[in-house]
Amino acid sequence: MDKNAIDSRSAGRRNEKMVLALLEKHGPISQSRICQLTRLGSSTVSTIVSRLREKDLIQEHPLPSGKRGAKPVLIRINPLGCYIIGVEINPNTIRLGLFDFHCELIEQIAIPLGNDHSFDPVMGLLEINLRGLVSKKMIPPEKILGIGITLSGSVTPAGLVELSSPLGWKMVPLKQRLMETFNWPIELHSNKVRLLAEIRSQPALQSKNIFYFNIADGVGSTLLIDGRLIHGATRRIGELGHMTVIPNGPLCGCGHRGCLEALISGPAILQKINADLADGRQTILRRWMDQQTKPEQSLEFLRQAVEQRDRYALSVLDFIMEHLCRAASIAVNLFDPDVLILAGYVSQPFFSYLAEQIRNDFADHVYDWHSRKIEILPSRAGKEALIRGVAQAVLQNALTSA
Ligand SMILES: [Zn+2]
Repeated sequence: MDKNAIDSRSAGRRNEKMVLALLEKHGPISQSRICQLTRLGSSTVSTIVSRLREKDLIQEHPLPSGKRGAKPVLIRINPLGCYIIGVEINPNTIRLGLFDFHCELIEQIAIPLGNDHSFDPVMGLLEINLRGLVSKKMIPPEKILGIGITLSGSVTPAGLVELSSPLGWKMVPLKQRLMETFNWPIELHSNKVRLLAEIRSQPALQSKNIFYFNIADGVGSTLLIDGRLIHGATRRIGELGHMTVIPNGPLCGCGHRGCLEALISGPAILQKINADLADGRQTILRRWMDQQTKPEQSLEFLRQAVEQRDRYALSVLDFIMEHLCRAASIAVNLFDPDVLILAGYVSQPFFSYLAEQIRNDFADHVYDWHSRKIEILPSRAGKEALIRGVAQAVLQNALTSA
């Protein structure tokens, strides 16, 4: 394994990747099935299989057979043949996940970040914890397929963070820095990779046209059109959160005013509730919230207050709903999806209510609504969606690159 578990020095190794990609896609299959799917001759496939066996990347399981002759053998990926590390950096936490060759999460660590998001301290924490994780699980360094890192912001394929407003990073050569530190392949991805984790948790989505609408610390969207993730000319497609909703409205992190994100992101909702409390609004939220309340916590308090039919809390929910409905209708008119996924801690607690309201709103605001059929689904990938998604991106690239 030249530096990595799978390398790409020759056509032979390309064939190894092709077979591994088939095993990843189809699960355990026989050698003759591999011949059919690859259209390679049986001796070539035998050579590939024996090379993968030597590298400990596959497992073989003989099946009981009623007939005479050789028993059929099913070949599958050895889950412990390679490992992938997924990293999410957000303003609150660095989340690290160690994944096996099937992209199953083996162990994860969440490292809280204080208010200092300067590059060097964050990198220091990442480096020490990442090495600690690999050594704790006693993973041989040569079995690490790669490290995938994802964060909120604009990142180039070369690994430069052009702008991450939540972290306050501008033109940061993140990949370069990590390549100087670790002897493993490094990939940097935008947070659009979370849709890969979503599709893995709901495989039927693979063939759909998806508008994935995330409402959390930021507001943004990811698009799967005709089975492909769409990026756009400058990889900034889907910035629906920066659509102007109220001209001269609240200031947004992007520097403009009145963006959707400045109205219904978690921090925006927290700010609105705090302003209304300071204004003397009567609500049970007053009992629970203080200066230390974080955005995600404030949405949990809002959920509890809505359950108790608190009038103010219900009005905040309707405020979220109205803006969400408008944005969802615009998105459907623009992108023609057949699935809308609502994700993020602002929308998840109220999914059923919001989905119903959005569906009602479509009838009034979506062009030719009656000819369309759109499923509205909750996100199912959970809090680990980003580390899962970025690990999958690393695996896909490793198995498909030339
Ligand atoms: Zn904005």
